[in-house]
Amino acid sequence: MSRFDPTRRDAWRPATLAVRAGPPGDPETGAVVFPVYQTSTFEQEEPGGDPAWCYARTGNPTRSALERALAEIEGARFGLAFASGLAAATTVLLTLRSGDRVVASRDLYGGAYRLFTKVFARLGIEVAFADTTDLAELEEALDRPAALVWLESPSNPLLRVTDLRAAAALARRRGARVLVDNTFATPALQRPLALGADVVLHSTTKYLNGHSDVLGGALLADDPAIHEELRFLQNAAGAVPGPQDCFLVLRGLRTLALRMERHEANARAVAEFLAAHPAVERVHWPGLPSHPGHAVARRQMAGFGAMLSFEPRGGEPAAREILRGLRLFTLAESLGGVRSLVCHPPTMTHASVEPEVRRAGGIGDGLLRLSVGCEDARDLVEDLDRALAAVPARRAGV
Ligand SMILES: *Cc1c(COP(=O)(O)O)cnc(C)c1O
Repeated sequence: MSRFDPTRRDAWRPATLAVRAGPPGDPETGAVVFPVYQTSTFEQEEPGGDPAWCYARTGNPTRSALERALAEIEGARFGLAFASGLAAATTVLLTLRSGDRVVASRDLYGGAYRLFTKVFARLGIEVAFADTTDLAELEEALDRPAALVWLESPSNPLLRVTDLRAAAALARRRGARVLVDNTFATPALQRPLALGADVVLHSTTKYLNGHSDVLGGALLADDPAIHEELRFLQNAAGAVPGPQDCFLVLRGLRTLALRMERHEANARAVAEFLAAHPAVERVHWPGLPSHPGHAVARRQMAGFGAMLSFEPRGGEPAAREILRGLRLFTLAESLGGVRSLVCHPPTMTHASVEPEVRRAGGIGDGLLRLSVGCEDARDLVEDLDRALAAVPARRAGV
């Protein structure tokens, strides 16, 4: 009766893909887990041949297994793994030439902002920031030619949602390549290549690994020419991950669909609790109907994810009070692990963004960002409830 054909991977549903993507195991022994090839070089049969494996920067079987799995999960033809998300970002920017221009989402991962403004700007790559949730603003930014449009949706730290299909179409009409940083959504919830992106970037450090124990990055693409260009640079610039790290990301991937379900259910409970709390001024989570990107997120995502940020009444002093009170939410940078984390973007992840730029972009001094983990939602809500109660003066509606 079933139309499901298990021999066709493209028929697999996301949870099956997460568990089974990539090579089935070790062809040599039948081990069901792909092994770690901890070697830097490989014996060659003859000089000047074209061996499958020659040197581990160029290729390592464990890395290839991860690259294949990541591509399958993202629905991409090709995948490349890197030492970190920023190593992947650097490799993309190395495709540009001095004089090229990039248009990027204004609400952006702080490290990407730093890479654009402090490193590649020095090499003659100009970057312009636009609120890409506003297509008119993106169009205006593209009045001058751009080689690359860099989108992040949902964005960091305000969870702004860009209409990826519309933005990608606009960028392509102007002759720009389109990159989407899909780290916050993960391929379990969003597939930017199907919406018109040329390249998808991930910090696999986050949800794809999911256990806060490795750094990694990835680039996924469908176009063979783009893939070849990036693959050349992966080897030429050398920002590759080691085989142990690839193994850890591959292991983490197996529970991606499962984790995202729990992450999101917990995020919903936390967002709804915060939105109703008198000491909270604003909550940014695309799953709330009041969020300006809610309708677009519903259209282009299979879920809303588990990153959220909020502003307590009383600005930075109140935020610091809350941070002192939290027990389960650990004060740390990063996100996407099973353990819940909290951070204060103005002094942590976005400290490299100038205060004026930050405030103009809507990042208030009291903003707190939560990476909602996989604990019991009731414990998380109770932790926040107790911490927010430590701001008593604000409850009176100051
Ligand atoms: C963390 C992160 C990066 C950078 O990744 P690293 O692995 O830390 O280098 C890029 N984009 C987003 C959205 C991130 O959260």
